[in-house]
Amino acid sequence: MDDSQPKPAPAAPVTSAASAAAAHETGPTLLVKIFGKDRPGITAGLFDTLAAFGVDVIDIEQVVTRGRIVLCALVTAPTGGPATEGDLRATVHSWAESIKMQAEIISGTGDNRPRAAGRSHVTVLGHPLTAESAAAIAARITEVGGNIDRIFRLAKYPVTAVELMVSGAPTEELRTALAIEAAHRGVDVAVVASGLHRRAQRLVVMDVDSTVIQDEVIELFAAHAGCEEQVAEVTAAAMRGELDFTESLHARVALLEGLDASVVDKVRAEVRLTPGARTLIRTLKLLGYQVGIVSGGFTQVTDDLKERLGLDFAAANTLEIVDGKLTGRVTGEVVDRAGKARLLRRFATEAGVPLAQTVAVGDGANDLDMLNAAGLGVAFNAKPVVRQAADTAVNVPFLDTVLYLLGITREEIEAAELHIES
Ligand SMILES: [Mg+2]
Repeated sequence: MDDSQPKPAPAAPVTSAASAAAAHETGPTLLVKIFGKDRPGITAGLFDTLAAFGVDVIDIEQVVTRGRIVLCALVTAPTGGPATEGDLRATVHSWAESIKMQAEIISGTGDNRPRAAGRSHVTVLGHPLTAESAAAIAARITEVGGNIDRIFRLAKYPVTAVELMVSGAPTEELRTALAIEAAHRGVDVAVVASGLHRRAQRLVVMDVDSTVIQDEVIELFAAHAGCEEQVAEVTAAAMRGELDFTESLHARVALLEGLDASVVDKVRAEVRLTPGARTLIRTLKLLGYQVGIVSGGFTQVTDDLKERLGLDFAAANTLEIVDGKLTGRVTGEVVDRAGKARLLRRFATEAGVPLAQTVAVGDGANDLDMLNAAGLGVAFNAKPVVRQAADTAVNVPFLDTVLYLLGITREEIEAAELHIES
């Protein structure tokens, strides 16, 4: 350090952490902002410069966007009066100039205003995210009394995902206001209350047909039985909530009577995973989550998926097979709308995870009880009736976007994938 620099006056003795905190709340403080081209050593350089004045750090925020850095440091004003503060200002400005950065120093009192109560994480997914949509979302947040405290990008691929930390608005009110705007703008917005529970989510349970896989399994079987159209009609009506699921299941399975059991292997091979399904499951497993699937389809397919994807839980209906032929009946407990919610609870108990810390993902009307029972229910490319009832809707065809709703960034996902490959 240059010896010609002014020597800071010794700081007032601090008797306890509490009195130090109190001084930070009420004493004079300086907000030091540095802006310019990012390069290594800027943060070290700024604090090295400030260290000469014996100031304490109250808050630091730093953002780098396309190679430009904005570094804000909130520090206590130097003891020793206006002359010393003037020296600090001059020293910081000359340091910034020497490395072609801009500096701004604003005097004030105390810490940041405490963030208002009613804190939420708002995830916005756009494909693309237009400036118009961003403006509309931000305007709605303001309208319900919310303040955006922080924004950062979670992902640029396969969708643009940003997370906004919002305070001052009740989470439910924010969710309602933003859901309407999101639908209008064709973007997805998820609103989750802030809190430790968000980091404690440890079980994800997903529907299978049109969620983890792109197909409806019964339709794959029906194609082999030559009754595809009849089955598709019944499926669509059931998913719209127009038909009792159990009755429609029995009606559709009855159409498969006499089909050779060798079809099971063919159907397993035909199943197409939803884009992002593997990434989602791998990342969740690496993070220590337990992952399960529940399906109104058949164990003949879900057991295979469980093994292939390394899942912890799987449950579905079982097609009865006698003498190498499908009988047109299912055996055991029927997995219907209520059954899916029951299985979510059972998996949660077995996993030792409170229901509030579970996440459920599904697309159909028979997923609604499960989505409502979970701590976070995500409607994935769902029918409108499901979308409206769920906490959160994702309408892009990539299942790994669910990770962004949990606050996991694309960079973290990619780092995890490298970890697996190496
Ligand atoms: Mg489904």
